[in-house]
Amino acid sequence: MVPVLDVPGRMYVGGDWVDALDGGRLGSVDPYRAEEWIEVPAAGPADVDRAVNAATAALAGEWGTLSGTARGRLLYRLADLVERDADRLAAVETRDNGKLIRETAVVMRQVPVWLRYYAGAADKLAGETLPVDDPNLLVYTLREPVGVVGAIVPFNNPVMIMVMKVAPALAAGCPVVVKAADQTPASSLLFASLVEEAGFPPGAFNVLTGSGASAGAALARHPGVARVTFTGSTAVGTAVMQAAAEHVAPVTLELGGKSPNIVFADADLEAAVNGIVGGIFASSGQMCIAGGRLLVEEAAHDELVERLRERTERIVLGDPSDPATEMGPLVSDVQLGRVLDLVYSAKAEGARLVTGGHRLDQRGYFVAPAVFAGVTPQMRLAREEVFGPVLAVLPFQDEAHALELANDTPFGLASGVWTRDVQRAHRMARSIRSGVVWVNCYRNTSPHVPFGGVKQSGFGRENGHAAVLEYTQTKSVWLELSGSTRDPFTVPGAATRKG
Ligand code: NAD
Repeated sequence: MVPVLDVPGRMYVGGDWVDALDGGRLGSVDPYRAEEWIEVPAAGPADVDRAVNAATAALAGEWGTLSGTARGRLLYRLADLVERDADRLAAVETRDNGKLIRETAVVMRQVPVWLRYYAGAADKLAGETLPVDDPNLLVYTLREPVGVVGAIVPFNNPVMIMVMKVAPALAAGCPVVVKAADQTPASSLLFASLVEEAGFPPGAFNVLTGSGASAGAALARHPGVARVTFTGSTAVGTAVMQAAAEHVAPVTLELGGKSPNIVFADADLEAAVNGIVGGIFASSGQMCIAGGRLLVEEAAHDELVERLRERTERIVLGDPSDPATEMGPLVSDVQLGRVLDLVYSAKAEGARLVTGGHRLDQRGYFVAPAVFAGVTPQMRLAREEVFGPVLAVLPFQDEAHALELANDTPFGLASGVWTRDVQRAHRMARSIRSGVVWVNCYRNTSPHVPFGGVKQSGFGRENGHAAVLEYTQTKSVWLELSGSTRDPFTVPGAATRKG
């Protein structure tokens, strides 16, 4: 019996629950049952306009007058409500996305940690007084909210990725318009009902549901949006950046990856196997940080591949809402098609299938977790993000070779290094071109620690205190103290103080 999950069927805009202005609807599919389970509005450009106007009005109105302390209090209250409803949020996200309940249950308990981290930052945003050379000038900076933020999020971790954007933006005083992922709108709408209950002024937080091509594109190019923060694929991120450039809005791009997990022969292989399996098969491989390229020192290659085969074949696939399940379905038939295409291409290019890679003969979008050995750096499987449970194994001879392979990618999001040699660990961490390096661990994140990529994995950082600053701008204020007039033809501000 599937539990009945009560999810708002409307969007949250300007403090109201609304339908799309043209009445359009969008179905969301439960990927385990391969059937539509809820309908939400399909926002279009007119809805984006309405939401951006509501956010703009919030900044000019009540929201814009709140002190940092007051904004922090609202975020603390929201954190308490998310904590109260964590199980409900987790159940909805599992149903909508197919992500394991044992994962969403933990994620929803982490969300309040992020909200509280940024709640605490809201009253600590200050400018500075600057010691210019002229004693007759007082110069200080004001740190102001940048304005309305447009946040576009992907399907794979909907609430957490949204909160990584929304919490620092709200702490900074920016109203936010979120575009939820087409495939997974439900948990974002449920989250919006908690924002409402927490008492945020109307328009401070708005969430739209709808397609990327319509609502997402309209949000990215809307002239009322002062900053765009996007998490998703590199292809769409490029289009978002171009659209935002039309009105010179800065962007944060958290994009795809093809992260190397690098295992030296001296590593604790058991720990490495756990890290590798979690790094590629958790969330059915639908993780930006997926360690999709396993680089293994030749001396450990055969043993590690055998251990991986054995553990991979024991992975329990099934109902994501069953706490015993270790891997659920992919999010959609489209995603399933993409994953199978890369499996076929790896076979065609001569990689050796060690295990898995076939669609399961059952309802739902299931692929058996796959390990390919004998992958070469030119193969598509070594170069393209799969966003599914497919691991490419490449052997290396020595540290220099490992580094060359690790950096031989257009991406640069994350990496893992497994070794007992502490000097080598630091050498590798310094030389790998990625935004995150995990040593003898994988997949750790925290609100305290900056997260983001280099190269085609994007730019800008989420998490950490600096993320709040991304949603602020500095205004410099110059004040003449002497009261005297100046010669209009000398350069103002020239040094008059000695030394
Ligand atoms: P996607 O790029 O297809 O979609 C992401 C969001 O963009 C969705 O809300 C979608 O509706 C919207 N969108 C689509 N077309 C648009 C357009 N033309 N203009 C504006 N918005 C548009 O990504 P996805 O399939 O939802 O997610 C998977 C991708 O996200 C992977 O590439 C993954 O690596 C990446 N990702 C990155 C991170 C990170 O932090 N770096 C985290 C999670 C996922």
